[in-house]
Amino acid sequence: LPTDDCPADVETLGRSTWTLLHSIAATYPKTPSVAEQSDLKTFMGVFSRLYPCWVCAEDFQVYMQKERIQVGSRDEFGKWLCEAHNAVNVKLGKDKFDCSKWEERWRTGWKDGRCD
Ligand code: FAD
Repeated sequence: LPTDDCPADVETLGRSTWTLLHSIAATYPKTPSVAEQSDLKTFMGVFSRLYPCWVCAEDFQVYMQKERIQVGSRDEFGKWLCEAHNAVNVKLGKDKFDCSKWEERWRTGWKDGRCD
């Protein structure tokens, strides 16, 4: 049975959320204004308190206290977010993602044309 019309479980919520967050990184400016940097910091801070998986949110807040968010450019934030996602991957026993490829995955599409 399709489960799209049921409440999201932790996995579905996680996949959708990473899609949103990496897509925000993909569209974040290369040279953001002071206001854009401030918006992204505020958004991520609020996000880490409202994320509706409470154990996930708690760990993510701790991560954000250790690894200060980088919002100085698209590349900085994209890499920071990739590392944050990798920390969750490690916690869950999943493979780490190669962060040199975050833009291919989330912005430009794979060089082999898989997304065309
Ligand atoms: P996901 O991890 O959801 O990844 C989706 C896609 O992103 C992958 O298919 C891959 O193409 C790409 N990707 C993978 N790694 C990276 C990366 N490092 N950078 C860029 N792209 C990448 N679940 C729990 O059970 N416990 C938790 O504590 C927990 N904490 C979470 C905290 C946050 C902030 C978020 C957003 C999610 C959290 N989750 C947690 C959910 C978990 O991370 C996964 O989303 C969920 O387990 C589904 O995993 P998945 O294998 O489908 O791929």
